[in-house]
Amino acid sequence: MISYQKPPEVRGGLRLHQNENTGGCSPRVIEALRKLSAEQISQYPPSAEATTAVAKHFGVPVENVCLTNGLNEGIMVLAIAQLRSTISGAAAEAIVPEPAFEIFRVHIAVAGGKLVQVMPQPNFVFPLDEVLAAITSKTRLVFLSNPNNPTGVSIPLDAIGAIARRVRGETIVFVDEAYADFAGVSFIPRLQDFPNVIVGRSFSKSFGLAGLRIGCVIGNPRTLEPIRLAVPVHSLNVAALTAIQAALGDREHFENYLREVTQSKELLYAACDRLGLKYWQSDANFVLVDLGGSTESVLKDLAARGIYVRDRSTEPGCAGCVRISTGIVEHTQQCIAALEEILCAARS
Ligand SMILES: *Cc1c(COP(=O)(O)O)cnc(C)c1O
Repeated sequence: MISYQKPPEVRGGLRLHQNENTGGCSPRVIEALRKLSAEQISQYPPSAEATTAVAKHFGVPVENVCLTNGLNEGIMVLAIAQLRSTISGAAAEAIVPEPAFEIFRVHIAVAGGKLVQVMPQPNFVFPLDEVLAAITSKTRLVFLSNPNNPTGVSIPLDAIGAIARRVRGETIVFVDEAYADFAGVSFIPRLQDFPNVIVGRSFSKSFGLAGLRIGCVIGNPRTLEPIRLAVPVHSLNVAALTAIQAALGDREHFENYLREVTQSKELLYAACDRLGLKYWQSDANFVLVDLGGSTESVLKDLAARGIYVRDRSTEPGCAGCVRISTGIVEHTQQCIAALEEILCAARS
């Protein structure tokens, strides 16, 4: 059985392995949470206001939004709604261009679907022709991530449209936009023309709410219907529903983090150039770096210094690679200093 290889739970140190906002959430979130009353906590949480706030944030009608307990839950319910075994018994197929967010394959397996992998092109150029060629009469779901995790590489929006036009009517093309805020590009404005595309958004990364668990799926209300049914009743707790409204109201905190990310990536690219390490230009808040053979020992030396980055070396096309979160500049600088020390010591 395919299972999620959860990174070890570490306390303290520098967490650059899960693409969290290491600067923390907006102080307005903390303020709003402090104001929660005993009654609010004892009651089932109302979600209308939070849903309206999220819909407004993305500029879509409220009926086009379904909140989920983190985007991971959105992926799970989508997989269940689309892939659970049919009466005829034929396994529904889900296409995943690799390397991909590993949760896709885990949830496909849980739902009883069949994983159809499309292997990477050199330099992770989006394999549009190969994805189109992988579509069959059994395809029920196509998982895309834009920008992609773990590469940070974006998919042209026209390529997403081409896939959506090619698949059969009941097949859903899922566009995971967990990192779209960093790219500044979204498929959401095109959703009107593509009723079979569902966009997923997370508030864990750019808004720093990973610990509260809130995300959403957005799309045509009719397409969303079976997905909505699969979301457990009262799946979102009152803390998350309160937090999202406060977080969306603090534009400055959000934009400040985006600026830190842009600067952090430039610093890391420059460091990789100095160290002769291959990396890929990223549109997200992390960078995939090829440590070229010394991956295991570098990971160990970084961890010994309390710096955690994500080993991606066993993912398709990612031999030797680690994924480093590039958020708060000061944290990126600490990681770069450690990397330079470790690699220069190893080379001398
Ligand atoms: C982090 C991540 C998610 C999950 O986000 P949550 O809202 O925390 O569940 C979904 N998709 C991708 C590609 C991610 O990297």
